[in-house]
Amino acid sequence: MAMKTPARAGAVTLMAALGTTALLAQTVIKLPKNKYTPEQDVKLGLEAAAEVRKQYPVIKDEKIASYLTTLGDRLVAVAPTELKQSVYQYSFTPVNLKEINAFALPGGPMFVNRGMFDAAASEGEVVGVMAHELSHVLLRHGTANMTKAQNPWLQLGQIAGAVGGAVVGGEAGSAIAQGSQFGLGTILLRYSRDFEKQADLLGAQMMARAGYDPRALAHMFETIAAESKGSGGTPQWLNSHPDPGNRTAYITKEAEALTIASAADTSQFQPIKTTFKAMPPGKSTADVERAHAANGAGGGGEAPASVGHPGQPVPRPSAQFRDISGGKVFQASVPDNWTSLASKSSIKVVPQNGYGELNGTTVWSHGVEFGVTRPSSRDLHEATKAWLQGIAQGNPELRLGGEQQSVRISQRSALATPLVNPSPLGGKEHIMVYTTFLSDGTLFYYLTVAPEKDAAAFEDVFRKIVDSIRLTEVR
Ligand SMILES: [Zn+2]
Repeated sequence: MAMKTPARAGAVTLMAALGTTALLAQTVIKLPKNKYTPEQDVKLGLEAAAEVRKQYPVIKDEKIASYLTTLGDRLVAVAPTELKQSVYQYSFTPVNLKEINAFALPGGPMFVNRGMFDAAASEGEVVGVMAHELSHVLLRHGTANMTKAQNPWLQLGQIAGAVGGAVVGGEAGSAIAQGSQFGLGTILLRYSRDFEKQADLLGAQMMARAGYDPRALAHMFETIAAESKGSGGTPQWLNSHPDPGNRTAYITKEAEALTIASAADTSQFQPIKTTFKAMPPGKSTADVERAHAANGAGGGGEAPASVGHPGQPVPRPSAQFRDISGGKVFQASVPDNWTSLASKSSIKVVPQNGYGELNGTTVWSHGVEFGVTRPSSRDLHEATKAWLQGIAQGNPELRLGGEQQSVRISQRSALATPLVNPSPLGGKEHIMVYTTFLSDGTLFYYLTVAPEKDAAAFEDVFRKIVDSIRLTEVR
């Protein structure tokens, strides 16, 4: 970075001696590449927000709702003019969910969980998270994610699909994906570490202009991280907002380069906390999703179920196998200590503690899935590619884990595709996807998943299962 020669050397020496950081400039944040229009952001965001309001327990309390809007309006008022599109329709909606979380949709709708208020030590902490969310809106990160997702197969990892959330570890966003016209809730709300850092920095800048110390944002992130230590898993917030690392350090540094405007009036914060205390406790996201699925409004027809507690040790697969069958489509043998979970078009078979609720979301860490899907092509490579792109939409960090290979399943030509994805338990997970055509042209798949640390221990059982598959449809 080039520095101008100071006019008065004496003053600079004094400033240096005091360790002042007045010479630092605030970080310039740029809009990422985006092939959508701001109008499309607004349309998409409004449609998704309508779904969210149907499915999530929105808090109707007038005092709380208007308080949240006051905070949001303060931030919008100080947002950089060049980023404020006139078409945006900002809204700030409190939700009675207990997880420390918040999210914003393209074009302006923002939802803040009650858990965020309960966990916040000051108004600045709530405002900090809202400023971070508003930054995602202003920088159009949701549709920037979609722009990235249009890349071809070799950049599979950049792509985002509706199938994915259900197939490779569900997440909170899937409730939004369901029913949304684009089925893209997951991609809209899963940001890269780079986008996260940009949202932190722009958020810090807006906080300072609105009269809050940006370091409150860093403190809120520490609270969220501490929540994960307490529960031993990943907090819901981090599912969509991955930690770029050194958050406290760079937010503090940015704060030092900023001038905080005259302090905002925070006198409403404590009374609002008291109002919350008088309300019944917040629900967990998992409870809400379960209730929604029970009402038959779910997308995949898959009722959330738990097989033990993800994160707890997974017992070794039994050497004894039992037969399962999927309608008229297939038969296979699976370890007899694993549990089958069937939905309309797929069957998961999972070991104890391999599938269930973890920190309010449904995750799948270990096991196999058999399923059928309508192919987009009669060419196996093409059909597999298209289906994997669908999976990748719900798993933006999914990567190829090696060479795709030609194999045989039940004496038919099949493809085996190794993939690597972040495990819901932390670290990486290994995924292997086998695909082949049924005689009617339907694409059949067999998918295995295990965390990297357990991959070797499960390799054998996964192979025994694939060798046992018999495709049984009538020819
Ligand atoms: Zn974020």
